[in-house]
Amino acid sequence: MIEVVRKGLQSWYEQHKRTLPWRSKPEPYYVWLSEVILQQTRVDQGLSYFNTFIKTYPSIQDLAAAELDDVLKLWQGLGYYSRARNLHFAANQVITDFNGIFPENYEDILSLKGVGSYTAAAIASIAFNQPKAVVDGNVIRVISRLFDITASVNHTSTIKEIQALADELMDINNPSSHNQSMMEFGALQCTPKNPKCEVCPLETSCLAKTNGHVSMIPLKDKKVKRRTRYFNYIIAHYEDKLVISQRGTDDIWGGLFEFLLIENSSSNILTPSEIEGLLPISVKSVGKINAEKKHVLSHQDIYANFYHIEINPVKDDKLNIVALDDLHTFALPRLIDRYLENHEVISGEKRH
Ligand code: SF4
Repeated sequence: MIEVVRKGLQSWYEQHKRTLPWRSKPEPYYVWLSEVILQQTRVDQGLSYFNTFIKTYPSIQDLAAAELDDVLKLWQGLGYYSRARNLHFAANQVITDFNGIFPENYEDILSLKGVGSYTAAAIASIAFNQPKAVVDGNVIRVISRLFDITASVNHTSTIKEIQALADELMDINNPSSHNQSMMEFGALQCTPKNPKCEVCPLETSCLAKTNGHVSMIPLKDKKVKRRTRYFNYIIAHYEDKLVISQRGTDDIWGGLFEFLLIENSSSNILTPSEIEGLLPISVKSVGKINAEKKHVLSHQDIYANFYHIEINPVKDDKLNIVALDDLHTFALPRLIDRYLENHEVISGEKRH
């Protein structure tokens, strides 16, 4: 079965593979960047992020020399901002630890910040043609269906079993295109919903198909409990200036900028005195208060109220006071970015 599957995948890949920039030019920097971006998004959306990154930072040296805030700004909208911080950090590791040359050795690749076994295997195989089998979400689905694995893929033991099968399937004569064929097959043919079994070259080998288990595999345990959070964003302004703050790195949107935030345990609207009690600002007048619709993250639902508040001028070194016209130069969470697309922060009248 192994040889039949391997050959079937390879000929399917030759016919169906998409033309992608990191595929046409599989240099390690491109492969690494594409893999990190594609952990966050689908290929069609990730492609524009990849192209923008490469245009802005054509080489790993350019990325290493960039300001972190600029990298975060380019990453805006992809979520999991720790990945962008790790990219920047690891680019600097390549410069300092490997003389600016992307490491070829698997263990060295693994030493780069944010690079786990999956990404290291992808880089080692695609860029350096080493026989390291990748196991991502697509590969997990393809293998668990081909071999009719009915244990939950949330368990480490199941993933180990899948990794062992992926290692066995590896085409040691052609690791780069073998791994890409596995991932591409999962993305285009053996999809999560409505896999194209009726036109599948592996149908006769596929045990899940034979046993009628396709729709239930891969099996997952129940989802982790979601967390609901209530944010109150204080758009504190005077003249044409705004107060913003930078988020810490131990929570969502780490390192991004936002309006002053008061997190609450309910969606209750705060009073001016409550706001003054919690923030180092003096409220002059309260304008509009807008409640935004639920903002959904992978494990959290955010309900946000936005308060447009005119304040008395502040002089506080700990606060970031920025010109309203410069706000777009900061990396902002998608929730705030979307709010700014739909609302005026300071009315035109007040601005002039
Ligand atoms: S027969 Fe269906 S489930 Fe099996 S490998 Fe092909 S597409 Fe996937």
